[in-house]
Amino acid sequence: MRIKNKEIISLKRKLKLSGVKGLALDIDETLSFTIGFLIEKLIEKMGNPENLTVKEIARKYRHTDNIPYWQNNEAKKVVDEFNKSADSFRDLPLIENSNKIIQEINKIIPIVAYITVRSSVAFNETKFWLKKHDFPEAQIVTRPKNIERKMGNKWKAKVLEYLYPQVVGIVDDNPGLTKYFGKKYKGVIYLYDQTETERKDINVIPCENWEIVAKKVKECKI
Ligand SMILES: [Mg+2]
Repeated sequence: MRIKNKEIISLKRKLKLSGVKGLALDIDETLSFTIGFLIEKLIEKMGNPENLTVKEIARKYRHTDNIPYWQNNEAKKVVDEFNKSADSFRDLPLIENSNKIIQEINKIIPIVAYITVRSSVAFNETKFWLKKHDFPEAQIVTRPKNIERKMGNKWKAKVLEYLYPQVVGIVDDNPGLTKYFGKKYKGVIYLYDQTETERKDINVIPCENWEIVAKKVKECKI
């Protein structure tokens, strides 16, 4: 997968010229509780077969693709509607105190990009949401139209490999992302909301919560 996207190429060039090295952030399930919002919608329309709370469902399945009783056309419609209606992205709940901690991290190492598998349809709403919660201003990189959503992790890993060393790593909740880095990747993946990783050959640091992310970022800088 070669990086042809002009936006990403120009981001690298811009960072290189300014000599800035920084960190990237994922958005869904790292900064915003997107799946929670979506689960609420699914419960509304489809009922709650296991009688779990939204948080319990999110923790058990992590992604709506993994929820066995919501793999039918009716549920797919709810998910598709959500992804298409950019407005939904304005009201997403914030995860813990992620914004406060990122402001702290930003003083140690600058946040230089938000890299998300969201499509560009939600670009303005994503920008609005980040500003609303006082996240540092940085370029938002969305998944290009020619990359299918299920290829999102692979795309993101390749973007991060390309952007290294100007982008020294990412905070991301998705263990699936770690699969796609080559063995030579020297960046750091702070795996948010995880306690372990299968990748021992590259620099993956599982971080149970945002406090631990901040602590690990500080340690890396020393
Ligand atoms: Mg995520």
